[in-house]
Amino acid sequence: MFIGHFAVGLAAKRAAPRTSIGTLTLAAVFLDALWPLFLLLGLERAEIVPGPPNSFLSLNFTYYPISHSLVMAIVWSLVFGFVYKARTQYGRGALWVGLLVLSHWVLDFLVHLPDLPLWPGGPKVGLGLWNYPAVTILIESAMFVAGVWIYASMTRARNRIGKAALGAYVLVLAALYIADAGSKSTPPSITVVVLTAIVAWLFVPWAYWIDTNREVRTLPHP
Ligand SMILES: [Zn+2]
Repeated sequence: MFIGHFAVGLAAKRAAPRTSIGTLTLAAVFLDALWPLFLLLGLERAEIVPGPPNSFLSLNFTYYPISHSLVMAIVWSLVFGFVYKARTQYGRGALWVGLLVLSHWVLDFLVHLPDLPLWPGGPKVGLGLWNYPAVTILIESAMFVAGVWIYASMTRARNRIGKAALGAYVLVLAALYIADAGSKSTPPSITVVVLTAIVAWLFVPWAYWIDTNREVRTLPHP
């Protein structure tokens, strides 16, 4: 899952309005942000699948128990939540960022082939929605539209940056997703996969930048 994780990062603004979508997005993609580091350190492994049935299946996630086992996902979500609570004293935000870290595993469980270990060395699970690329694209696109709509409607731009930076963020993510889902070619090497995953970190400061230039609308009293 790709833009689906960014979608929940945006939508979570409704649940934790005082938390920046920078933090919410970092939480939602946290396991994927750790992954390239563990690949670089040689602690996790992935392989390129030659001639995959579709672009979603171009990688074989051979071994990634530290970033992507269920038990470690729970550990990371607790760490993220507690660090956030210690830094901000915003309990509601801490609860939600913790849940967002865990949401990553749940969404990955939906789409991945059975390659997600329940615990390091444990049985591997995954419902394999990636075998049905059209359904995957439909679900993920609907999530993205909903996430953008929730965030855009509950906040308003303080200035032109608040409007333009959000618009560009949505367009770039959508364009990358379309390019990725539609591509017939496999990544040239794992190094390129690692570098791409590291470049994707840029969306986090970008999300902070959007959020500081927008403000939460005062919710109308019912
Ligand atoms: Zn992942």
